[in-house]
Amino acid sequence: MGNPVYTPDMTAVHTPGAPRIEDGELVSTNPATGAEAGRFPVASAEDIGRAVERGREAGLWWAGLGFAGRKERLLRWRALLAQQITELAELSNREGGKPVAEAIVEATSGIEHVDWAARNARRVLGPRGVRSRLVLAEFSAHLEYQPYGVVGVIGPWNYPVLTPLGSIAYALAAGNAVIFKPSEYTPAVGQWLADSFARAVPEHPVFQVVHGLGDVGAALCRSGVGKLAFTGSTATAKKVMAACAETLTPVLLEAGGKDAMIVDADADLDAAADAAVWGGMTNAGQTCIGIERVYAVAPVYDTLLAKVVERAGRLTVGAGDGADIGPITMPSQIDVIRRHIDDAIARGGRAVLGGPEAVQPPYVRPTILVDVPEDAAAVREETFGPTLTIRRVQDADEAVSLANAVPYGLGSSVFGRRRAIAIARRLRTGMSAINSTLTFVGMSTLPFGGVGDSGFGRIHGDDGLREFGRAKAITKRRGPSLLPAMTFDRTPEQVARIVKLVKLLYGRRTP
Ligand code: NDP
Repeated sequence: MGNPVYTPDMTAVHTPGAPRIEDGELVSTNPATGAEAGRFPVASAEDIGRAVERGREAGLWWAGLGFAGRKERLLRWRALLAQQITELAELSNREGGKPVAEAIVEATSGIEHVDWAARNARRVLGPRGVRSRLVLAEFSAHLEYQPYGVVGVIGPWNYPVLTPLGSIAYALAAGNAVIFKPSEYTPAVGQWLADSFARAVPEHPVFQVVHGLGDVGAALCRSGVGKLAFTGSTATAKKVMAACAETLTPVLLEAGGKDAMIVDADADLDAAADAAVWGGMTNAGQTCIGIERVYAVAPVYDTLLAKVVERAGRLTVGAGDGADIGPITMPSQIDVIRRHIDDAIARGGRAVLGGPEAVQPPYVRPTILVDVPEDAAAVREETFGPTLTIRRVQDADEAVSLANAVPYGLGSSVFGRRRAIAIARRLRTGMSAINSTLTFVGMSTLPFGGVGDSGFGRIHGDDGLREFGRAKAITKRRGPSLLPAMTFDRTPEQVARIVKLVKLLYGRRTP
């Protein structure tokens, strides 16, 4: 694991690095050093309007390529992304502070989604015949999913490659043009993605980027895009939905989480401790599906806690290459993390690792909290830092009911053998990982999304592709109607026969 990169006087090397607007440009900076990472022109509402116009034209060309033409170009882009993964990861590190190794893992998952969406769009969205039923047997049925035209994508900073690609790749594969508004904290990564797409598909501006603060995102919501895919906090998701409601623009909302891990009596405790620490602290805990709460049944609680503390205590913190945990990207998040830790301790909780003194901007050292009341902020609100609350529960039933007692419902994790699947099914979350954590996000065949305050709609998988296509249903006459129902020409005899048929088909009680 190497020597800790963290030193107690870390504040000495920190120049606060929030992005700023300067001369009409968004200036993005590294959160650890304050060094400038890039400058990008801020888009006005008129600029966005023009981008939508360009996107409409480009989208027509893109849709006209058909599934095969788009697949070929998307795979070309995927190859470029794969060849330049290190460059992308280093940019992500320079701009967002994420350790390069973590950025590579993130980008790998994003590239896999580009590949899968390209290869599966025709199967999921392409025209196909659907079975007719006896009542309308004289008609054939056809279904296809047509593109919306231009899809707006608004993304967060914490996974600036994977989260936007979860929408962008699927929207493109479905035949849409895309306008992407990256977070103000990671505009350079967003621009890099669009530039690399333009190298693979130089003909038309199929994938454009607009830069700026929240008001630019709001303007994109109102710009007339066919659909808006948002990933970010629950508070902003509500604003996005309200703005989109003005024009009845459909939305897909991927919002925050407060994911729990349940550790049952027959769990592999080393694996559970490893997953709790990685799931809770990867990307400095700034992960929507990061583990923030652990519920361990009484017989294994003490051993699990000791293993988690030992592992988390070994993690290195800093900006250097060898660090496991980088800086907190958004300076304001430090206050949230500090508040959660202080409040937990003020309310009777104990820090068995880290604690208030672990918060040294822009870093937070691993912190493990126990005996924290379930109504404390550290248990109910998204902390977004390298912290875990661990609680002893009587049994898995108590764990499930506590895990389900928050408004969020994004991901979850269960460690155990005999009852793990049954426990996972009872968790009110969009995804669960058994004997692992976070793995569902890289499984491109599975849908990703939440319930409750975590949002609605799905990215990834078949469902993720369908989010970016409008269902188009077509019926086609293939023969004369024996019982003409949909015409004023029907006779009383025919209506009587319809009544008979209805009773025959649906009138019996048995299935
Ligand atoms: P925010 O909600 O602060 O911002 C998300 C995006 O929305 C940014 O691009 C932001 O722009 C933009 N935005 C801000 N205000 C508005 C507005 N009024 N209208 C339209 N767009 C607006 O989230 P963060 O960037 O801080 O991301 C962290 C959050 O994202 C966490 O809650 C995390 O859980 C969640 N998340 C959810 C995921 C999921 O798949 N469910 C995945 C990853 C993260 P700007 O940055 O310029 O303010």
